[in-house]
Amino acid sequence: MSLKKTLKPIKKRIKNSNTAFATIKRVYRHLSMYTDKEILKYYHVDNIEELEEHIESIKKTLLYDNQSKRDKLEDIDSCFCLDGKKEFKYLYKSRKDAQKQIEYTYRSKKIRLKLYPCPYHLGWHLSRY
Ligand SMILES: [Zn+2]
Repeated sequence: MSLKKTLKPIKKRIKNSNTAFATIKRVYRHLSMYTDKEILKYYHVDNIEELEEHIESIKKTLLYDNQSKRDKLEDIDSCFCLDGKKEFKYLYKSRKDAQKQIEYTYRSKKIRLKLYPCPYHLGWHLSRY
């Protein structure tokens, strides 16, 4: 009996983490071919707990925040994607603009960036290799 009890929290954890990855793969179909590890990298999080937090914060914003706040986000062409410092990422409306920024960053700081499509909005984000 006691063995069953101790296993329960572990089982629950595994179930939750599978759900988080499954949710992302279902909702964002372009990520469906990614491995779990690639998904963590995609969202710039280190582990499943951080990924779940990120999902929850997005859900909260989408479900409970008032419409005006969402309209405001639309106005500034932003989305809910976070960078490594948990700040919102800049959303480039055109691939060309993102490309220009990549060239500029490389010329001025010798930092190589890559672009990828935002999973929530029409636009592009930059991330480090
Ligand atoms: Zn985004």
